[in-house]
Amino acid sequence: MSIIFGPINSRRFGKSLGVDLSPTKKQCNFDCLYCELEPAKTMEAYDDVVSVEEIMKALNGVLEEHIDIDVLTVTANGEPTLYPHLLELIDEINIIKGNRKTLILSNSANIHKESVQKALLKFDMVKLSLDCATNRCLKKLDRSHKDIDVESIKEGMLTFKKSFTNPLIIEILMVKTLNDSAEEIEELNRFLLKLNPTRIDIGTVDRPPAYKVRPLSYEELREASLKFDSSLPIYIATRKKVMAKPSTYSDEEILDTIKKRPLTQEDIEALFDVVSQKRVQRLINKNKLKVVDSSGYEFITLNR
Ligand code: SF4
Repeated sequence: MSIIFGPINSRRFGKSLGVDLSPTKKQCNFDCLYCELEPAKTMEAYDDVVSVEEIMKALNGVLEEHIDIDVLTVTANGEPTLYPHLLELIDEINIIKGNRKTLILSNSANIHKESVQKALLKFDMVKLSLDCATNRCLKKLDRSHKDIDVESIKEGMLTFKKSFTNPLIIEILMVKTLNDSAEEIEELNRFLLKLNPTRIDIGTVDRPPAYKVRPLSYEELREASLKFDSSLPIYIATRKKVMAKPSTYSDEEILDTIKKRPLTQEDIEALFDVVSQKRVQRLINKNKLKVVDSSGYEFITLNR
């Protein structure tokens, strides 16, 4: 059983250590079709709980070995907000974290609960998944535990956002034919405009899934991203970008593409060939485009 994993190097956050609140087995209130863990029965409370003392002992031990950690990421083989001592744990982590940032990755199913919001408010960054904006999709794709309702999730997110002033990142994992329809995206779009999160990461199935589901290609993800309102800070988070074929774009085509959706440097490398990338740089120098930081990612947008 390994409570602490990593360190993992990331371009965005630097060196991150993971804290697994369910190290012995999968404990989750979802059983997503795309989960990289084995399928498992959903639950509403952990039946195997590691103590806060045990987690802190493991964390302190690894931090003594790795003094250069930038981020402590709280996650689980399952859903970390089902951990019954989350508030006590984040209080303990905050005592020892020093200059490091804390991040929690949650599937959002418990975000409407006051106790969960109270704990999440103590993190430096919160990343919440939202694959579906309708109950039909939630039941089919995320296979949520009985009584979990997407409207409570949305309400919970809106309430949480009112009090949380640190970066709130939303993650949408897109699966072919399950949540990539125009109707589902329209529902997500409507809600995200209301929520106004710091950033929205759109990804797809990157690792072997629990059930037979199909990923979207980078081009299909890009197509899907264009169906969202252009004011939303969408980042296409997929390792499949390397498969995209860069093309030549004129200055006008570059401006038109970025007008539809701000791009990250990674998008630019995936979409534009070397000549077009130099054009992007020239457009930045001429103040037609500008670089905006959004919680670890630099987006290139129109300089309106
Ligand atoms: S929420 Fe995460 S851990 Fe739970 S089933 Fe979905 S992908 Fe797996």
